[in-house]
Amino acid sequence: MDAPDILKNRGLKVTKIRVAILEAMGESRQALPYSELQKKLSIFDRTTLYRTLLVMIDKGFIHKALEENGDTYYALCSSCTSKVHNHNHVHFKCKECSSVQCLYLQNEIGLSIPEISIETIEITAKGTCSLCRLTN
Ligand SMILES: [Zn+2]
Ligand SMILES: [Zn+2]
Ligand SMILES: [Zn+2]
Repeated sequence: MDAPDILKNRGLKVTKIRVAILEAMGESRQALPYSELQKKLSIFDRTTLYRTLLVMIDKGFIHKALEENGDTYYALCSSCTSKVHNHNHVHFKCKECSSVQCLYLQNEIGLSIPEISIETIEITAKGTCSLCRLTN
């Protein structure tokens, strides 16, 4: 599904900046620092960009993955809606290339979480990502 359809599906008006944000976020598990988002989307006004980002967080499209050195990393949500936000996953930061990604425990590590209700986990796992392991 491409960006305009994703927006339409969720009942959000299709605007240039919303489409551009979704497209800039690219691959779903990869988080993007705000500074880079600003660079990629420099044709848009900074205030508009920030406000649009807040709307998209509120509507369950994007979540905050990590805050580090005054920069905030954002990633696409996997199953959030404007009413239900589900962020019970860990974020992984590669110490080689600094990429940040979402780690969904159940799928990727085979760990099953007992029937408790976790709302947010703020753990950042650090190590070497699969790409860097290949090149080392
Ligand atoms: Zn979310
Ligand atoms: Zn890496
Ligand atoms: Zn995440």
